[in-house]
Amino acid sequence: MGSDSGASFFKQVNLMFDRAAVHTSHPTGLLNQIKSCNSVYEVGFPIIRDSGEIEVIRAYRAEHSHHKQPTKGGIRYAPVVNADEVMALAALMTYKCAIVDVPFGGAKGGIAINRREYSVRELERITRRYTFELARKNFIGPGVDVPAPDYGTGAQEMTWIMDTYTSVTDNPLDALACVTGKPVGHGGVRGRVEATGRGVFFGIREACDVAEDMQELGLSTGLAGKRVVVQGLGNVGYHAARFVAEAGARLVGLAEYEGAIYSPNGLNLENVVTHRLATGSILDFPGATNLNTSADALELPCDILIPAALEGQIREDNADRIQAKVIAEAANGPLTARADQMLSDRGVLVIPDVYLNAGGVTVSYFEWLRNLSHVRHGRMSRRFEARNASRILQSVENLIDQRIGTPVAMPTQVMTDLGFGASEEDLVNSGLEDTMVSAYEEIRRSSRRHKTDLRTGAFVSAIDKIAKGYMQLGIFP
Ligand code: NAD
Repeated sequence: MGSDSGASFFKQVNLMFDRAAVHTSHPTGLLNQIKSCNSVYEVGFPIIRDSGEIEVIRAYRAEHSHHKQPTKGGIRYAPVVNADEVMALAALMTYKCAIVDVPFGGAKGGIAINRREYSVRELERITRRYTFELARKNFIGPGVDVPAPDYGTGAQEMTWIMDTYTSVTDNPLDALACVTGKPVGHGGVRGRVEATGRGVFFGIREACDVAEDMQELGLSTGLAGKRVVVQGLGNVGYHAARFVAEAGARLVGLAEYEGAIYSPNGLNLENVVTHRLATGSILDFPGATNLNTSADALELPCDILIPAALEGQIREDNADRIQAKVIAEAANGPLTARADQMLSDRGVLVIPDVYLNAGGVTVSYFEWLRNLSHVRHGRMSRRFEARNASRILQSVENLIDQRIGTPVAMPTQVMTDLGFGASEEDLVNSGLEDTMVSAYEEIRRSSRRHKTDLRTGAFVSAIDKIAKGYMQLGIFP
């Protein structure tokens, strides 16, 4: 949830926590420990702009929970970043990791800049200095705290972080694992770039496959033909839009910070992206209607709304006008707590951020494992699996030969589909799908058991797992 007027983002996350905690039987002291933010580091440092001027940059890193280590969470570059926001996002990371069984505590970092106002060289200086500040205070390291991309950052920033950390650490052997979301040539894992959006797609697909829930919403099962609106075409929004469209959904509305476009007949995502690259805007896309603001797109008639930009987009003042029957929270905190309540009361199915965008951290976990094991996933088994598969297919051919007395050959398509070993990308995507499918079943079961919405069910599940972790540590006998 984003912030409603008056209540800070972190307070709102804690409000959700409290709403779920009443469905558990853990001691109050333990619940207080789980929801409190353990450490917050705020730093100001100077950088020299290309013009020669000196500017002071404010940056943050919050480590919410150390019940598992390292802590893990993205780094965002946005003008509005502040201590409260990174604490809230770090808390969401703690619960997210617990929901998808990724063994990390939650963290989040941010630098209060609008990246569009800085050159690449300036961004590099800012990123490297930030990493150095984190290293000095022991807020980064493969076993300590591992950042990843978030709003306004990507593979390039992660490479600078890795390179800077490597030059200051006294443990260069595992240094690659100090950050995830790196490019493949620098220790990144195949499939990480699109992981969050792909995870969002898996989560939406699972929700749409539950006949009982779709019936309650007056929708048919499956994604095919469903009308979708996406706000934010960055890493998460673009990939989520791409995967839902590939599954047969119709993209009727797309929004970016400059405005939005609408076409009830459907928009071709790649053509819109090409148009934006050529003109600098998604507006005036041939055949589509322009909407003045990104916020207008949220109110379009559609079946599924995917807010994938920033927090606090759906609030008390616009929640009543939302027409979607399913809201898929690809961004962190796009609904305020009040809006969430209003939409739940109206029977809208909200698939919560704390589950839905967990694909990023899931695949980051795979990348971290790859870096620590110093071997690409599947490297030692791929050829062995391929050979085994062709031996099995050969045996099947021989058996059929014996039965019918005439030599037969497996169709080429069967050989192509079955006669191979899993690549790193296959393994990553399969691990991601398994995680998102199992976690959806779990949070839905929890919400049914406690007669709550999905978000509360997800929080209950997270609280129980974290509480168990603390109990096992013996801190709360
Ligand atoms: P990004 O920087 O790649 O993309 C964000 C996009 O939103 C940009 O294209 C930006 O122009 C656009 N945008 C900004 N304000 C907008 C507005 N008012 N209306 C419409 N579009 C707007 O960031 P991202 O990594 O895609 O992150 C988006 C959200 O997803 C954030 O809330 C982030 O915390 C969350 N998230 C990201 C990841 C990840 O792996 N990147 C993982 C989990 C959660």
